Amino acid sequence: MLQALEHMIEKTFIGIAHNKEGYKPRESQQLMVNQIGKMLNNPSNNLITIEGQTGCGKSMAYLVPAINQVLLHNKNNKERIHLVVATANVALQQQLINHELPVLAQAGLKMTSVLAAGRGRYLCQKNAMVTMEDENLDVREAQKLEELLMSLGNNSWDGLKDNLTDDNPLQERIWPKISAQRAKCKDCEYKEKCAFVKARSAIEKSDVIVANHALVWSDLEDNKILPLPQNTIYVFDEAHHIPKSYRDSLSKSSNLNRILRLVNKDIDNTAKIINQLSSSADNIATLNYQNAFKLCSALKNGFNELESQCVELIKTSQQASNLKEVTVQFSETGIPAKMRYLLNIQIAPAMLQMMQILEKTNEWGSKQKSLSESVESQLKQGMSILGSFNNAFKTFNLFTTESCEQQPMAQWICNEEHNHSNVIFQAGLVYIGHLLKEKLFDKAYGTCLVSATLRSLGTFDRFLYQVGIQKNETQLLCIESPFDYQHRATLSMNKTMPIPDYKNEALHTQSIVEKFKQDFDNHQSGVMLFSSRRQMNAFVELLDDETLSFVKLQYTDSRKSLIDKHKLAVDSGKKSCLIGCQSLSEGMDLPRQYLTYVGIAKIPFSDISNPMDNAEAIHCKRMRGNPFRDIMLPDASARLVQSTGRLMRTVECSGQIAIYDSRLINKPYGNLLLNTLPSFNRQVS
Ligand code: SF4
Repeated sequence: MLQALEHMIEKTFIGIAHNKEGYKPRESQQLMVNQIGKMLNNPSNNLITIEGQTGCGKSMAYLVPAINQVLLHNKNNKERIHLVVATANVALQQQLINHELPVLAQAGLKMTSVLAAGRGRYLCQKNAMVTMEDENLDVREAQKLEELLMSLGNNSWDGLKDNLTDDNPLQERIWPKISAQRAKCKDCEYKEKCAFVKARSAIEKSDVIVANHALVWSDLEDNKILPLPQNTIYVFDEAHHIPKSYRDSLSKSSNLNRILRLVNKDIDNTAKIINQLSSSADNIATLNYQNAFKLCSALKNGFNELESQCVELIKTSQQASNLKEVTVQFSETGIPAKMRYLLNIQIAPAMLQMMQILEKTNEWGSKQKSLSESVESQLKQGMSILGSFNNAFKTFNLFTTESCEQQPMAQWICNEEHNHSNVIFQAGLVYIGHLLKEKLFDKAYGTCLVSATLRSLGTFDRFLYQVGIQKNETQLLCIESPFDYQHRATLSMNKTMPIPDYKNEALHTQSIVEKFKQDFDNHQSGVMLFSSRRQMNAFVELLDDETLSFVKLQYTDSRKSLIDKHKLAVDSGKKSCLIGCQSLSEGMDLPRQYLTYVGIAKIPFSDISNPMDNAEAIHCKRMRGNPFRDIMLPDASARLVQSTGRLMRTVECSGQIAIYDSRLINKPYGNLLLNTLPSFNRQVS
């Protein structure tokens, strides 16, 4: 099989060389291709972890062996396999669908492929028609919606939001109403022509499925969309996002105000509904519906008591911190005993019984041939309560799960930004590696984890620990970038800058302003990156009008629009500098003249006030580790590599990276961080 695969791979690369202008085979790319090919034919170790640095041609290096393996397998076997390429951002999905896969098709690969986007990214015709009738829709919105429906009708648009050519803000407002996110597809008259339905049915027939990480995570839970793991070769591009994105997908949060509204108002009504229904619903008469009233009053008392406890905790925290918006974390202290008792003994059993009754009622409703309008609406209300209860029940379950050595938990409550009296319950697992291993890596036909930055402080250790992989369970590969960092990029640092701690922040910000003005004077285009929004805003406030005239500030416009404006300014010979936080340090591809300067305010250490990071640090200490050495430093190292990676996107790129943090020179760990960066020409002043 391996020989046949190697032959097919060779043929594909010959095809690429014939069809893609300027394509040159790269030794590093070939190494990656060969290793993936071998992994896919090695039943005892079907997992490979690759850091493929910028410019090594990693997309083709994983697509060619993986697609050929799918085609080869499907030719010789009845049970088909598929390739799922999961990315963290939409731009990379578009790049794969619109560029890489067509090149491979031209090179002779006869495959079928599809983009599997989340429901919310497709237009729902039924919802759109209902929205058209909405009296509150203004004229421009109605016109826009009509245009969308027309372009869908004449096939000039495929119904996917990402493929809309304009960036009209009207769409942002009406999109949630017209998307397929909450569409009820049963008996829909538009089903045959529906973009969402077509895309979902294409998945089954496709050899290659391009998706995002989040879709894979949700499908691991219910397996409704993607093929089974045992029939799938997974490639996770931008795999450094996996630990956080999978952890976030398993975390839960619930809004206490919403639940209180339900139990204080709607639920009485629901109990009445249940009682009314019980008289007509013979097949559910076995349930004790009188119970519904008792359950409601138990829930009312329980939740009102829970609210009092939360308000007290929030008030104490507000007084101690002198802040209105606070987070009360329980990783160090555990959940207060009386809160745990209330949730576990009083609230959870009553919620569970209530949910069972609502489920049975709904089951009965779905079996009825026809229902009166009032019963229909009663059932709908019951379903909405069931949905909220389901989420709250799962949140409280996670919230009261005891932390232990093997499974530390992050559990906290906070008040809402815009409504300080509203409490949000949040909880999640700190480590999710064991679940990834059990649900995905151990079952998959093969898995390839790829990113331009997977190592931190020069090793894969931190990443492997986070995703639950032992070193002997994966092959590790690092493919170096072909760029000439030494001659094309300068890394400038200053050892006299004020130390950027909280105490010195104002002074440090003032120094950055001065240095930035000097440094950027030599450039036309750049990006200035901050670790916090607070410092970014303080920096901007200190800029003079002339500098402000060429600044494109994050959060003032969509990311896409800011980048478009930046490019437009550069194209018309004007200066332009993007200013933003950590999220601009990733997935932003501004090659050559579009970016010759990268400023970094300080070493991007994580913010340990974040409950998840804090819970991880507490667990690390309990395990006799050192959170700074074991977590903060490796994470900062990976982020610094990503931030500096904005400069060199192609072999022709060049310019300056300025890091305004003297700790890189003056602290012992500075060298550790510097040694993991590419070989820039360093200048210290
Ligand atoms: S099938 Fe579903 S998503 Fe498609 S138009 Fe109908 S309701 Fe909307």
